[in-house]
Amino acid sequence: MEITKHLFQNLSILIILLLFCLIWIDKSRKFIISKSIVIIFFVFLLWTCIHFAYVPVSFARYDLRIIPLVIGGLYFGIGPILALALIGIRSLYGFDDGFIVSLVIYLPLAYLFFRLHPWFWKQSPNRRIPIATFLGMILGVLTVGGMEFLTYTRSHWVDAWFAYMFLPPLGIGIIAYSIEFIKRNVKMRLQLVKVEKLKAVEQMGAAISHEIRNPLTAASGFVQLLNDDYLPRHKRREYLSIVKEELQSAERVIQDYLTFAKPSLEKIEELNVKNELKQILKILQPMANQNSVEINTDFSVIGFIKGDKQRFRQCIINILKNAVESMPNGGQLYIETQYSKEYVTVLVKDTGVGMTQEQIGRLGEPYYSTKGSKGTGLGMMVVYSIVKAMEGTIKVESTKDSGTTFYLKFPTITTLNNK
Ligand code: ADP
Ligand code: MG
Repeated sequence: MEITKHLFQNLSILIILLLFCLIWIDKSRKFIISKSIVIIFFVFLLWTCIHFAYVPVSFARYDLRIIPLVIGGLYFGIGPILALALIGIRSLYGFDDGFIVSLVIYLPLAYLFFRLHPWFWKQSPNRRIPIATFLGMILGVLTVGGMEFLTYTRSHWVDAWFAYMFLPPLGIGIIAYSIEFIKRNVKMRLQLVKVEKLKAVEQMGAAISHEIRNPLTAASGFVQLLNDDYLPRHKRREYLSIVKEELQSAERVIQDYLTFAKPSLEKIEELNVKNELKQILKILQPMANQNSVEINTDFSVIGFIKGDKQRFRQCIINILKNAVESMPNGGQLYIETQYSKEYVTVLVKDTGVGMTQEQIGRLGEPYYSTKGSKGTGLGMMVVYSIVKAMEGTIKVESTKDSGTTFYLKFPTITTLNNK
């Protein structure tokens, strides 16, 4: 059982490296790992596997390179790169029969992984683990099948079949399980942070009223001063503009915060998304004109969702306002509705300043704003709370300096009008 024994050693190396990787992820607390680091790590794993292979005869190398290939291909979408890297690495160890077998097996695999990765991510976590394991088993069988052409295996075929039938699926199963486990933990941790923050906001109701009271007090102070009949004209103008500014700042806080005070929906009705959006755009048009923002729409589909009209409007307005504000020198605002049996999606795209990954991660956090005294940092928090109450989801795609796209997905309802 030489092959099995050596593959077990190969597996141990892989698992030790994985463990280091897990510790590193946990310590760094950064959950967004860049693709290039993932590629380097997986190419390193491939090299380790091939380098520490069992080499009974010079042209045949027995190792578990399938494991990094399957995991990297399915989970990280780098299958084609890894397959090519694998062929490259293998060539360093000679252009022999074993190299040709690798070439024949891994080149088609590069394409297969390319196709499989998006489908794989659509599966539920509980299905992903068996799918990955099963694929490992198939590739194991393919590898031994390929090895049959090499003379050495013929005398050891029981050993080879046993090793390749069981060890790759075992390794892939363990690693896939660990990845899913970490993902679940990270998600829970992030959710917990959000819940805690929201709780803090509830307790901050008093603080908010303070924020409103301050500008109001200031404004009423200046109104008192305006009472003076002998006040010079320029002073009067100055005071009036201060009063206006203070009132506007109070209004901003109220506008953004309004809905959050009562996150549950009040008057639930059927909403015709297209009509609602048209109404909202009427309100928003003047602001867009002021900023030289051109609005384009595509509301070709009809979709109905369930929710409170006022809240829905507020939610969309907050998003559109941010989009317009992100284009201080003008730009394009594009709004589209998409319809499927399950969801109505509202897409809002701007060509504004965009956000970094870190900024996207902080969206919805109370008081998070990059607009200084002009921002309240409450708008997106309100958006998240409304969308959640409507059982919808939000997805954000953004590139710094080139624009942002929001996808708001709400469950579709079927109505008599909606044929
Ligand atoms: P505010 O608008 O008062 O700053 P929000 O909660 O509405 O607060 O938004 C929080 C932050 O999210 C903004 O300050 C901005 O940095 C960012 N943001 C939201 N929408 C966009 C967008 N469409 N483009 C760029 N940045 C955005
Ligand atoms: Mg805002």
